[in-house]
Amino acid sequence: MVTIELSSLAKTHPRGVVGLHPLDLRIPSGELLVVLGPSGSGKSTLLRLIAGLDAATSGGITFDGRDMANVSPRDRDLAMVFQNPVLYPHLSVFENLAFPARARRWKQERIAGRVHEIARALEIEPLLDREPAALSGGERQRVSLGRAVVREPRIILLDEPFSSLDPPLRVALRERLLDLRWGLGATMVLVTHDQEEALSMANQIAVLDRGRLLQLGKPREIYNRPADRFTASFVGSPAMNLIPCQIAAEGEGFAVRLSSFDPHACWPILREWLPRCDPPTGAFELGLRPESIRLRDPREGGPRFHGVVNRVEYKGADLVAHLVHDKQVITARLDAGTSIRPGEAVEMTFDLDQVVWFDNDGRSC
Ligand code: ADP
Ligand code: MG
Repeated sequence: MVTIELSSLAKTHPRGVVGLHPLDLRIPSGELLVVLGPSGSGKSTLLRLIAGLDAATSGGITFDGRDMANVSPRDRDLAMVFQNPVLYPHLSVFENLAFPARARRWKQERIAGRVHEIARALEIEPLLDREPAALSGGERQRVSLGRAVVREPRIILLDEPFSSLDPPLRVALRERLLDLRWGLGATMVLVTHDQEEALSMANQIAVLDRGRLLQLGKPREIYNRPADRFTASFVGSPAMNLIPCQIAAEGEGFAVRLSSFDPHACWPILREWLPRCDPPTGAFELGLRPESIRLRDPREGGPRFHGVVNRVEYKGADLVAHLVHDKQVITARLDAGTSIRPGEAVEMTFDLDQVVWFDNDGRSC
């Protein structure tokens, strides 16, 4: 196991394309860090720097405190898995899996034992005699995953390893990887554009956008307390609602107003729920997860606003209603049994402690 430390690590590609702005990141030993970002955000750039496949423009990388600047990829004791598995086409699955161990001159019995152990865990034991051409995409990716873990490297880097697979296969392989992980203790970095994959697999998530690290945190922190509106809308499906509003001093306290014409869409707010900025007044965006919104009981106090149901999507476990309020579409995740129809006028509410505020720069406050 190894702790990876990146300090002011940056990469500018040829022709001045910035792959990564200076970035500091510590990946503790044995952790699974998921780097989450849209296409072109610098995920592969970051992984290739850690692997030593590309040289950084500035900054440094250490493994357990040891500078990696002049250490070749082969000598970094790491394995990499790519989106499109790279297998030796003329070698059997067994030999593909055995390859990294043979390269390290393991004894035959040790190789055979380990290959069978990994193949069993990945449910590819019946395929050991086949060549890669006779495998499905999912099977090839399993072999590729197996080859990465066979010799128990200290670090495993995975670049969108599941994204070319069908959803059920993707989920199955994720589970296999998590199962394998316990026996390995390797430090892992997985990059993906799939927010659900990040939330369900990571110990920590690093959110990247346009080569910048926007937030580093546990999945729950990223989901509940996104640091900025990009992360807020990128993580979570359906996305967080971002509703423009005004906060003004009113009498002794403060009030929030969602829209100028709806007198009901205005309510007092306690100091403790206000944005943490000075002054806490002016224009903000009110961020609300769909599951934080519910239909209001007429006897209920607290915030309330009107909407007209635009669309209802029944999901089985719950339903997603799209409501129009002041030209804005608001998404609410409601109980599956809720009776609600398009065209219906409804009144909604939510708890103010579930709000995330965003200032004019899109930073949470
Ligand atoms: P991701 O893996 O998140 O999709 P990449 O790390 O591949 O993103 O790319 C980040 C940025 O760097 C993109 O703008 C991409 O076009 C650019 N880039 C990546 N590799 C190269 C390269 N070898 N030469 C020039 N630009 C590159
Ligand atoms: Mg990539």
